[in-house]
Amino acid sequence: MHLHEHDENNAPNQAKTQKPSDPNAHLARGVEGAQPPLEQEGAHLGPRHTVAAGLYSIYETAHFGIKEMGMDRSLQALLKLNQKDGFDCPSCAWPDPDGERKTAEFCENGAKAVASEATTKRLTPEVFAQHPIPELIKQSDVHFEELGRITHPMLRRKGSDYYEPISWEQAFDLVGQELRSLDSPNQAVFYTSGRASNEAAFMYGLFARQFGTNNLPDCSNMCHESSGTGLSEVIGFGKATVRIEDFALADSIFVIGQNPGTCHPRMLTELQKAAHNGCRIVSINPLKESGLIRFKNPQHPFDILGHGTRMACLFLPVRINGDVALLKGIMKEMLEEDRRTGRRVLAWDFIEHHTECFDAFARNIEQESWDRIIENSGVSRDLIRQAAEIAMSSERMICSWAMGVTQHKNGVSNVQSIANFALLRGQIGRRGAGLCPVRGHSNVQGDRTVGIWEKMSPEFLSALGKEFNFSPPEKHGLDTVCTIESMHKGAVKVFVSLGGNFLVSTPDTNYISEAIQKCRLTVQISTKLNRAHLVTGEQALILPCLGRSEQDVQASGPQFVTVEDTTGVVHMSRGVLPPASEHLRSEPAIIGGIAQATLKRTTVDWQGLIDNYDRIREHIEHVVPGFTQYNTRVRQPGGFYLPNPPNQGKFRTPSARARFTVHAIPEHHVGNGKLLLTTIRSHDQFNTTIYSENDRYRGISHGRRVVFLNSGDMSRLGIEKDQWVDLISHFETETRRAERFKVVPYDIPQGCAAAYFPETNVLVSIRDVADGSNQPVSKSIVITIEPANSHTPTERLAPQ
Ligand code: SF4
Repeated sequence: MHLHEHDENNAPNQAKTQKPSDPNAHLARGVEGAQPPLEQEGAHLGPRHTVAAGLYSIYETAHFGIKEMGMDRSLQALLKLNQKDGFDCPSCAWPDPDGERKTAEFCENGAKAVASEATTKRLTPEVFAQHPIPELIKQSDVHFEELGRITHPMLRRKGSDYYEPISWEQAFDLVGQELRSLDSPNQAVFYTSGRASNEAAFMYGLFARQFGTNNLPDCSNMCHESSGTGLSEVIGFGKATVRIEDFALADSIFVIGQNPGTCHPRMLTELQKAAHNGCRIVSINPLKESGLIRFKNPQHPFDILGHGTRMACLFLPVRINGDVALLKGIMKEMLEEDRRTGRRVLAWDFIEHHTECFDAFARNIEQESWDRIIENSGVSRDLIRQAAEIAMSSERMICSWAMGVTQHKNGVSNVQSIANFALLRGQIGRRGAGLCPVRGHSNVQGDRTVGIWEKMSPEFLSALGKEFNFSPPEKHGLDTVCTIESMHKGAVKVFVSLGGNFLVSTPDTNYISEAIQKCRLTVQISTKLNRAHLVTGEQALILPCLGRSEQDVQASGPQFVTVEDTTGVVHMSRGVLPPASEHLRSEPAIIGGIAQATLKRTTVDWQGLIDNYDRIREHIEHVVPGFTQYNTRVRQPGGFYLPNPPNQGKFRTPSARARFTVHAIPEHHVGNGKLLLTTIRSHDQFNTTIYSENDRYRGISHGRRVVFLNSGDMSRLGIEKDQWVDLISHFETETRRAERFKVVPYDIPQGCAAAYFPETNVLVSIRDVADGSNQPVSKSIVITIEPANSHTPTERLAPQ
């Protein structure tokens, strides 16, 4: 699976099935990229790096940075990354320290994200002219990364296999014409990825609503919708209740369904500080991830030379989606101990004065049998008892989680079970304690705060209407899943994507590729090429934008943008590098350009907003609570915290109390040779951006088409190490197939399997969604495994 092996020389099967005269014939096969023939060796399994970060991480950071940016640009960019007068990391949403910051305030992944954006490589119109879309689409995602920054607006005309340059004015006119020709504004969808700034997101939401639709899906629909839904119902607030300083004060931190070493690496620094203070870290996850075993902080020379810090003191190897059962077990221990000790364990004063529905919750826990808890969690009674003891002896406890919790049919139940666990000892609303859903993309939380949601509250819509003297549509719009389903029915004609890689990040890859091709126009506002640019509507535009690291100068002078991190801190981000091309425009300028070309009558001074972002922030201040004196406070070094009522012990539920909730243990009908598959990320990727085909924390190199299996399951199913297999998912009566994965025996609970996202998105049905949040179920996919068939490697994935 070396990069050079993904060229046309290795794609005889694809070539046979293509019909060059049909511009979309190649797309079905291309949605997953090229795959190697079976006889190739594929991924290698070697020793795992069980200590996170350390010297190797410093080497990787320097090597990747210099390769992409050169020495000067590397220094210029990285020394301003996550600094108070610099720019925000475009990768994850982990917060920066409130107080003093180090010279190098970033992790390996953050540095790679910046290097990827600030690369000196350029994807010019000449390169596009040399490579038709059917050829490009056969390349790997790593290859797209290496093509560099897109320099000009590009148009794919109807029926053409090529992108060609187009002027900004013509591009805006095309979008405007297509939007205005729709029968209804609801035939357009405006998707947002979590990189967009507050300013761009606010303008985008305003434009969509002035146009007449609430069709504003975002990537949060796929990542933390279950967290927002679950927490809003029980504590009246859908975000984290902690501040970064709380981590160092905690007595225990439960890290649930989360792999911070790979997905939020600087969280390890806070966990390390906590561990040094005597905090006990408990890891609840099907896989024992390196970041939670040991950590060598690259900023501490003694750490690098020594053995690093032992992180989790307790690891609970929960079965995939066994979290409700496990948390019920821990809470059952706590309730029983409370009874034994005469009410000395639970926070009775807090429960009586600040919560509701405790009795029903406690009755349900008492009635749950230990056999069921142990069988469904896969965790022994002894380990459950140990976890309960840690929780019972913690004055201050934090629970953090990510998509291992949310991307299940019962994702909302999982989140609310964590809330129950915290409420038992009143662990919300005091220092060193709280709930922390850790967001995956740098401003996904801020985008939602300023209006990117298909169902913003009536209060928000009314304030927006008042501010701009118009009537925003009240009807809820489409979320991500509903967008894809509507597209597939032909009901969405124009799709605009503010960042992101919609095709690859969404579930049911073949279905979404069919859906997208039914649009009349697809528009991608992007920095680099990705697969979503190659599977398109009849016409497609790529509108290249400035990156976070780049200077943004408008009519009133240099601008900065603002973002919100996981803990609700809003701060500024000011790029330092010259733009990759003189033809790039900022996201606010692109949105404003589209708005001006589309809205013949508007109550918004779009040009004024483009010229001076302070004006956008003034409007946000008037519309969104918590942004008082926005322009002044955001200029203070480090920014400001948004209001966080639960952090102050206030719950904005109808009763003004936090609510205990009752949740059934989910049933998984696996067995009969079936396994439950979770999707995972490698250490060398950020969401859909793949930096290399290595994952050193799991010992994998030179390939990503691997499936991690329990050795007991392998013997039972007659599967051998290094065997090539196909994965077949089962949803209702449907099956889906992902071909050619190499088997890797791994320390994973019996009955469970793991394979990389996004390669396995093809297995997730668009209709397999979480109850209550409509979030795709990408972490509990029922599969069977078959030996790979070397004679029919490609055709089965094609949409029918
Ligand atoms: S932890 Fe996240 S935000 Fe911080 S530098 Fe790393 S990738 Fe960027």
